[in-house]
Amino acid sequence: MNIPFLSLKDVNGRYMEEIQRAAAGALDSGWYLQGKENAGFEEAYGSYIGSGHCVGVANGLDALTLILRAYLELGALRPGDEVIVPANTYIATILAVSENGLKPVLVEPDIRTYQIDEKKLEAAVSARTKAVMIVHLYGKCAYTETIGRICRERGLLLIEDNAQAHGCMYRGRRTGSLGNAAGHSFYPGKNLGALGDAGAVTTDDALLADTVRSIANYGSWKKYIFQYKGRNSRMDEIQAAVLSVKLKYLEEDNDRRIHIAGIYMDKITHPDIILPPAGEGKDYVCHIFPVRTKERDALQAYLQECGIQTMIHYPVPPHRQMAYAEWQEMEFPVSEEIHATELSLPMGPAMRDEEAEYVADVLNRWKNG
Ligand SMILES: *Cc1c(COP(=O)(O)O)cnc(C)c1O
Repeated sequence: MNIPFLSLKDVNGRYMEEIQRAAAGALDSGWYLQGKENAGFEEAYGSYIGSGHCVGVANGLDALTLILRAYLELGALRPGDEVIVPANTYIATILAVSENGLKPVLVEPDIRTYQIDEKKLEAAVSARTKAVMIVHLYGKCAYTETIGRICRERGLLLIEDNAQAHGCMYRGRRTGSLGNAAGHSFYPGKNLGALGDAGAVTTDDALLADTVRSIANYGSWKKYIFQYKGRNSRMDEIQAAVLSVKLKYLEEDNDRRIHIAGIYMDKITHPDIILPPAGEGKDYVCHIFPVRTKERDALQAYLQECGIQTMIHYPVPPHRQMAYAEWQEMEFPVSEEIHATELSLPMGPAMRDEEAEYVADVLNRWKNG
């Protein structure tokens, strides 16, 4: 059996006729940006997340960057302020902070959950800390009551990076509605994926939403009148039409992912493999199914030989990247341990049960074939 890490052709193939009809509608309309499709998707996605406002933007990195930029324009943040981020996140979270002239403060994850460690987070809050950016990494809710309390008591903005967790829930509320604002990515491989780049900002704060919308449109509220030194970051009508179709199936797709993860959790019994913590209800929408093992590279090669494609999320931690050469001396042992041992198994809504069972069988035979 040949099992790809994620076949987008299979994922989108299930709804291809409906996707093609929606895209054709956008093409036929003769209106390609900031039209009915974008407004319709913003409305549908905002209400799905449970946020009062949703602004479609060009991608997930822009969504996060625009939130921080809008807070700077509104005076809630100032250049040089510290923003706490998890040390093991995807680089985009950190780029959004540094691009705005803010200071990313990296905090270690908990080795058991891979999510930011709430005790270390509390210890990292300084007089200059003004915001916390949590990341629902791998599709698992990173929010905790303690994190909410720390942000309230210290007067910190709580921003969610919801790029990997569309549909994820915390006690009956969706991630993306738990903090002051959230950035979402609709990169094709995400749980809710477009056929190109797209992203969104959700928030209950009307002024923030309007400011993001304005900055994303050259800094303009009104045609040819510019209040900010803005940029261009918009979701196009074709992507919005496609996303509106796919949003209808997101719940079903996430259930499928959770089901596949359940097969892995039940069937993988190899003593050298550490499974992720089991989800509860919808607090883990299984964007990535991470396992860990000391001989990660050997395991990856073995699975590859058996026709099973895996990925590593991520091979090099942000503080070891050339882009952040100034952090080379810093040490984040927990994050480094995760980066050295993590392997992501095939996962997606179009995967069949037999495929997941096969992956588990092959894994269990590793080293005693
Ligand atoms: C994908 C991703 C982003 C960036 O989204 P793009 O749409 O690719 O710009 C940001 N944060 C995390 C955690 C991601 O996984």
